[in-house]
Amino acid sequence: MRAELGDVPVKDDEGTLTTYGHDESDTADYLPQLVAFARDTADVQRVLRACMKHGVPVTPVAARSGKSGGSLPLEGGVSLSLERMNRILEVNPEDLTATVEPGVILEAFQKAVEEKGLFYPPDPNSQAMCTLGGNIAENAGGPRALKYGVTRDYVLGLEWVMPSGEKLDVGRRTIKGVAGYDLTGLLVGSEGTLGIATRITLQLIPRPLRVMTALVIFKDVLQAARAVSAVLAAGVLPRTLELLDDVSIRAIDGRGFNFPRGAGAAVIAEVDGNVEEGLFQELTRMGEVFEQGGALETLMAQDDSQREKLWAARRVVSSSLRAMKKHKISEDICVPRSKIPEAIERFKALGARHGLTVATYGHAGDGNLHANILYEGPHERPKVDLALEEMMRVTVSLGGTITGEHGVGLAKRNFLSFEQRPELISLQRSIKTLFDPKGLLNPGKIFPPEKIS
Ligand SMILES: Cc1cc2nc3c(=O)[nH]c(=O)nc-3n(C[C@H](O)[C@H](O)[C@H](O)COP(=O)(O)OP(=O)(O)OC[C@H]3O[C@@H](n4cnc5c(N)ncnc54)[C@H](O)[C@@H]3O)c2cc1C
Repeated sequence: MRAELGDVPVKDDEGTLTTYGHDESDTADYLPQLVAFARDTADVQRVLRACMKHGVPVTPVAARSGKSGGSLPLEGGVSLSLERMNRILEVNPEDLTATVEPGVILEAFQKAVEEKGLFYPPDPNSQAMCTLGGNIAENAGGPRALKYGVTRDYVLGLEWVMPSGEKLDVGRRTIKGVAGYDLTGLLVGSEGTLGIATRITLQLIPRPLRVMTALVIFKDVLQAARAVSAVLAAGVLPRTLELLDDVSIRAIDGRGFNFPRGAGAAVIAEVDGNVEEGLFQELTRMGEVFEQGGALETLMAQDDSQREKLWAARRVVSSSLRAMKKHKISEDICVPRSKIPEAIERFKALGARHGLTVATYGHAGDGNLHANILYEGPHERPKVDLALEEMMRVTVSLGGTITGEHGVGLAKRNFLSFEQRPELISLQRSIKTLFDPKGLLNPGKIFPPEKIS
């Protein structure tokens, strides 16, 4: 492979292989044999062509913040890192578009466009770490998805390298455009299994001039969840409605932000727009509904620094929960909004039944809940697996989906059949074969392993 790859930078020391064998999914580690660091599209093509020629599995990888094991090289081979392709190529305020390489860190991109008075809404809480290429592959969401939608809603076009190494231009640069099948829609969310995004054209919107943020405190999580549903039913559309349950609050309390005593759950509600009075009206209406729903207290962020402190606390929920027990499995199920309270109630109950701590937090406004199972060690794993399976079945029975934003990857491939019928899974397998006839690009992801008869 070294000879085939010419001057493409590669590493195969133990430290690098160990690093690239791990992501944020808490599934097992899978080490590659070589990590190649693409500098441009030609490097990506070269690595893919070499791998196809020699029958070597190859897995795209970016910041490894993924939570479904998508970047793990399950069958070894080459990890193809896109991190060094990290240039913002163009921000065009007139067309409201931007073109970037895939390794651009989301937060850096958001800052760059905001400096020009523009706005890129998708905001996974890993924004300081994750890349736009990883976001495209997972169709990442985030708190603001409630009002603004997810990554797919902002991708206009892609430069795409097929597993064979062939380069395609997919999509458009215009706001409208319906020529041919919507392949951009298919490739966004394809979890690094259908090819590699080497250039991304994104749609931007004008930056809202005003933002107001409130932290609403409740006695318990069910009350808070019911209040979230009530707010949405009352016709108010904030940009975030983030839920924190009692376990999550305990995990982050005092880490830069102190919650009031007696807080058993909280909702971070944020509105944005250009007219201050309009925002006040929305907040007031929300406040009334929250109060009727049993809110104990509402704290308003008085300025940007208070708002940032609150969001900084929200962003460390995942790592703080991990500090509570040695192991954590983080699910990202999504249910219809009306089913949020029932989902939370049933997850807590199944946790209690299995003797496990379940923390539920997340983007409750759009039904996307991060249900986390915390446990001490491998001896508890069998009951964790039972609880997880039950959680997925409950979700699907409520009309929900097993993953709202993290992707199926490796972690959830055995649950796909809970949600999708065999005919649909088989159609998707055919699409994978059409793109990647040798099955060498990111093998083993999304679909359950086929039974050998
Ligand atoms: C603390 C924390 C909070 C998070 N919060 C959110 C959240 O709010 N919302 C959310 O949606 N996710 C969230 N995530 C999950 C994660 O950050 C996202 O899935 C993110 O999009 C992954 O980006 P990455 O650059 O780390 O990609 P990686 O993890 O390296 O890779 C993810 C997948 O993308 C593929 N890939 C990477 N680059 C490319 C490319 N250029 N072309 C094709 N395929 C590629 C890989 O093969 C893999 O399948 C969170 C993670 C953490 C750790």
